[in-house]
Amino acid sequence: MATSPKLDAKIPEGPLQEKWTKFRSTVPLVNPANKRNLEIIVVGSGLAGSSAAASLAELGYKVKVFCFQDSARRAHSIAAQGGINAAKNYQNDGDSVYRLFYDTIKGGDYRAREANVYRLAEVSANIIDQCVAQGVPFAREYGGYLSNRSFGGTQVQRTFYAAGQTGQQLLLGAYSALMRQVALGQVKMYTRHEMLNIVMIDGKCRGIIARNLITGELERHFGHAVILASGGYGNVFYLSTNAMGSNATAIWKAHKKGAFFGNPCFTQIHPTCIPVSGEHQSKLTLMSESLRNDGRIWVPKKLEDAKAIREGRLNPNDIKEEDRDYYLERRYPAFGNLVPRDVASRAAKERCDAGFGVNATGEAVFLDFAYNLKYKYGMMEANKRGIKNPTEQQLKELGRPIVEEKYGNLFDMYKQITGVDPYENPMMIYPAVHYTMGGLWVDYHLMTTVPGLYALGEANFSDHGANRLGASALMQGLADGYFIIPYTIGAYLSNEIKTKPISTNHEAFVQAENEVKDQINKLMNVKGKHSVDHFHKKLGKIMWNKCGMARNAKGLQEAIEEIRSLREEFWKDVKVPGSDKEFNPELEKAGRVADFLELGELMCIDALHRNESCGGHFREEYQTEDGEALRDDANFSYVAAWEFKELGKWELHKEELKFENIKVAQRSYK
Ligand SMILES: Cc1cc2nc3c(=O)[nH]c(=O)nc-3n(C[C@H](O)[C@H](O)[C@H](O)COP(=O)(O)OP(=O)(O)OC[C@H]3O[C@@H](n4cnc5c(N)ncnc54)[C@H](O)[C@@H]3O)c2cc1C
Repeated sequence: MATSPKLDAKIPEGPLQEKWTKFRSTVPLVNPANKRNLEIIVVGSGLAGSSAAASLAELGYKVKVFCFQDSARRAHSIAAQGGINAAKNYQNDGDSVYRLFYDTIKGGDYRAREANVYRLAEVSANIIDQCVAQGVPFAREYGGYLSNRSFGGTQVQRTFYAAGQTGQQLLLGAYSALMRQVALGQVKMYTRHEMLNIVMIDGKCRGIIARNLITGELERHFGHAVILASGGYGNVFYLSTNAMGSNATAIWKAHKKGAFFGNPCFTQIHPTCIPVSGEHQSKLTLMSESLRNDGRIWVPKKLEDAKAIREGRLNPNDIKEEDRDYYLERRYPAFGNLVPRDVASRAAKERCDAGFGVNATGEAVFLDFAYNLKYKYGMMEANKRGIKNPTEQQLKELGRPIVEEKYGNLFDMYKQITGVDPYENPMMIYPAVHYTMGGLWVDYHLMTTVPGLYALGEANFSDHGANRLGASALMQGLADGYFIIPYTIGAYLSNEIKTKPISTNHEAFVQAENEVKDQINKLMNVKGKHSVDHFHKKLGKIMWNKCGMARNAKGLQEAIEEIRSLREEFWKDVKVPGSDKEFNPELEKAGRVADFLELGELMCIDALHRNESCGGHFREEYQTEDGEALRDDANFSYVAAWEFKELGKWELHKEELKFENIKVAQRSYK
């Protein structure tokens, strides 16, 4: 299969290990005096946006940063819990840049670009040094070394963490770097602003239209280049672990102006979330994957035990060891509870579909710490203290402080939400939407198919193929922002030094603003009966049932039709109260859901066309005898990049994936 002529990934020539070094040494530079005259717009202040903005401003560019929250510090990245990967090999357990590269390509089910993933693994170690220098308080061993733990899909310990709040600590580091530049006048920060369109002049992206969310005013902003670091679109499913405000609008508006959308259907369903509790829920909560280091996942072996637990007649602690099915350890002995997320999620669904679910809805499995709390940590403490033949109670008491130190905030969160104490009883978990591997297609420079428009972090189609390994999103976002874009953007801007700032009175700005005005007026004037959430929930159900953890052709065809008619209904019957000249969160939501109603359709079209299973994209028609994903490398070893033609109509372009440094194989964690 040949790559579409419209997709030039610009992968440097030469051996994999030398590509990035050579690129960095030969990429055109912009001299410091010229940098001062070049303006860059960054949409997003999460880890990708903040790190990019701070680094570009430090280099001397003039930067404007936009976010819809009241502070850059509130970007969704703050929610990240478990950790960030880096090939430091501090544990001396066999890690290397190549191994991180290999794990990531394999984890993504061979649907990611080799050159990008290798570069990611290469710069991973620099990220940790950068963050430590900023004062990020990573967990440390007794001797002072940085501590590591394991995440899924790997057999080494390479995950750096700060208790269960790694994202928060990393974001505080990036935020400090950003605010330093704000104080120096190099960055101008626009909080409570939402980007609602990009501005195209002579085929290049030259700015954005943003709405001041407090006053409702529309603003025009010029930039020599625009970077979208606006996060993922998991909220298309309504219920997800993402922050409520996370949305697709920035990338969707760019998509409609020419930026191709890569692999839209690749969605990550995370296996360890607090199960759905009812119809009125608007958010799901993640229990970090780090918990799978010490938590063992099981369901009862006997259907009657599962039924008794569901009906509250049996306490799980009373089920004997031999009557428990540690199904991940049974099915995947080599990786056990630390198989990748797509594999763990499907295995949980399989057990629950077979009737072994343990909560009232039958959609939950146990994540149990009792064993390691007592026999790993309790026993270690007992040995340290010379306690011979400790009792069960002693082991529990000795192990608890260690578990508390590692996972305390996550345990507290679980207890606050469910009312159950996980030190005493196993947690109940079930898979939920968590991350989107799809996003705007970008080349090696992280530029989209629109010249001058870049996408970073979760907003791009990323380095994770069809399934992201845990602790790799933070790594990718920070790699993009601190270490990649500062080099690659020079290749473009070195040709822009003669471009003077373009007046925002230019016809293209007026037109882009008018498009935004028209959409807002349309939304305000429907004056229908149903709230925005009413439609969002309906969309979420279609997506979850027909384009979620398992998909099939019939369901996807139905979903496409259902989404189209839901979209029609939305534009006839949505109710947006208040006015557009004031702070109006319902209007904000309405715009975002309008975009989800278009994106959802594309996700289903993408899922329908990919007649294979890979990573998080599990087509029921394509599975091995034992229920594993069955790839079709001969026909689908490509990135699907969709070009928007008109609503409901897209053209598919393919970027062939070539694997020259890794042997493509059936993925196995057994
Ligand atoms: C609960 C949870 C836990 C996680 N834990 C981990 C973990 O332990 N390790 C790991 O590697 N990954 C983890 N992830 C994934 C990771 O947190 C995200 O992928 C990552 O933080 C995304 O960063 P980002 O900078 O790309 O986007 P975000 O942090 O989502 O930031 C998006 C920014 O864009 C702005 N924005 C969006 N649209 C607009 C617009 N139209 N106009 C203006 N501004 C806009 C927002 O205001 C925000 O500032 C977790 C995810 C979740 C949901």
